Amino acid sequence: QEFFTDSVQKLQEFNDLLASPKRIVITTHQNPDADALGSSLGLASYLKKKNHTVTVITPTDYPEFLQWMSGEKEVINFESEKQEQAKRLLAEADVIFCLDFSALNRIKAMEEPVKNAPAKKVLIDHHQQPEHFADFVFWNEKAAATCELIYQLIEILGDKALIDIQAAECLYAGVVADTGSFRFDSTTKDLHRVAGELLDIGVETNSIHRRIFDNNSLERIQFLGFVLGQKLIYLPDYKVSYMAISKDELARYGSKNGDTEGIVNYGLSIKGVEMTAMFVERDDMIRISFRSVKDFSVSEFARNNFNGGGHKNAAGGRSYDGLSKTVERFLSLLPQYQAQLLSNE
Ligand code: 5GP
Ligand code: MN
Repeated sequence: QEFFTDSVQKLQEFNDLLASPKRIVITTHQNPDADALGSSLGLASYLKKKNHTVTVITPTDYPEFLQWMSGEKEVINFESEKQEQAKRLLAEADVIFCLDFSALNRIKAMEEPVKNAPAKKVLIDHHQQPEHFADFVFWNEKAAATCELIYQLIEILGDKALIDIQAAECLYAGVVADTGSFRFDSTTKDLHRVAGELLDIGVETNSIHRRIFDNNSLERIQFLGFVLGQKLIYLPDYKVSYMAISKDELARYGSKNGDTEGIVNYGLSIKGVEMTAMFVERDDMIRISFRSVKDFSVSEFARNNFNGGGHKNAAGGRSYDGLSKTVERFLSLLPQYQAQLLSNE
């Protein structure tokens, strides 16, 4: 499928759609991360300046370390007492933007209300294997972040001057988070240009970094110490590492949703590791995060084995088999991937 921005006619249609004030809803995936929330709020800020009425609705709550983003206070959490209001906004919207996801099952209970809404739908995303539910698609799996795509879209529309410092901070945060601070392969020359232009608008890079990464409670750091000291397992025969964290262990450290974010990356920092996994026991399921380097596709691995997907080197999945059974199944899969893991270059 072609980006609507690549087709003069489609782009014109998109422009026409937004030529007069519209009722707009922006939504993103469950458990929003910096890219999900940053792209949503960055786009919201821009669309408000174009005189639209804009509401950001998230399928679930999001972590505290994102609660500085401008416009965040007005976000409606679909899993709150405001659900009826959210349903009404979705049903009455002229346009619904779907950001940073491309499979409808990633918006939980919002799936049906979004699917059934008569609004025109615009998908802007960089995850693999997009579903085709949108009228306008701006999708690029090579993009480092949805925030990068939002910047590019505003640029294509000739409106860069409308990105204020608060919106720039949101977009910058998403870029920093989704590139592991400009470390992943998705970090291109053009991404650095975009980041540089965001700095020109006034973003202070260290300030954003600290808000996202240096915002831990003492307990969370102690939890990290516990996990790294006692839970991280390395299997040199497969060049794989993993950690499995139970509900009890989370509770012992008063761990909140979002507290496990980023911890999976430590598994990949062991010399020689090509793939790592983190299993976390949540209420009714096991949430799994996968990370890899180079050509080993955890997106494929997650899709084929754990009901998930994502990007080549960062993906997620789920299991309903309980923690130990899920880990056992993961371990039993490794032999068939051994050759690929050992030759991963
Ligand atoms: P994380 O491990 O940080 O939760 O997820 C890693 C990446 O994979 C993120 O970009 C996330 O959006 C994506 N991801 C996580 N779970 C799923 C899933 O079930 N399906 C798809 N398509 N992507 C996922
Ligand atoms: Mn993203």
